[in-house]
Amino acid sequence: MDAKKRCLISRDEIARRVAELAERIGRDYAGGDLVMVGVLKGVFIFMADLVRALPFPVEVDFVRLCSYGAGTATSGEVHITKDVELPLKDRDVMIVEDIVDTGLTLDFLRQHLLSHRPRSLKICCLIDKQERREVEVPLDYLGFVVEKGFLVGYGLDCGEQSRTLPEIFVLEKD
Ligand code: 5GP
Repeated sequence: MDAKKRCLISRDEIARRVAELAERIGRDYAGGDLVMVGVLKGVFIFMADLVRALPFPVEVDFVRLCSYGAGTATSGEVHITKDVELPLKDRDVMIVEDIVDTGLTLDFLRQHLLSHRPRSLKICCLIDKQERREVEVPLDYLGFVVEKGFLVGYGLDCGEQSRTLPEIFVLEKD
């Protein structure tokens, strides 16, 4: 795909928002015992920044999910290719995700983690992309809302390219 990139969210905006999210989470879980479960791979940069901005240490774990579908659309059929390894029963758990689009991935993961019987389960998501939502998921901590577009950078890729860009870009076709 030959697409131009337009900067949508700058480094400063990301840094400010991540600090605000960390402050809120810090207040809400003060003295708590939190396990953050990141959704690979796209979340790796956001989660690294978020956990280091928190006022207390947390345990971290990761899942890798894949949804079979063509191109940039998810099919609704979500599979786990790497599951959580830490015990979650009776723990306060927070899913950390890069972007929610249809909502199918987060809805699946939420149900899956609820089956571990955590004490609480919340979701922290960097970007809420609203146009194609099919399933409503509760986004307890949210970074940015965008209407539509395919985003790359700050962990988000397009065919494994552009993940390491420090800003968030929207791809624009020529
Ligand atoms: P959903 O199941 O909500 O439709 O899709 C969520 C997953 O699709 C995200 O975890 C992400 O991997 C991928 N995704 C959705 N929108 C975008 C986007 O704009 N850019 C990138 N790079 N990935 C996206």
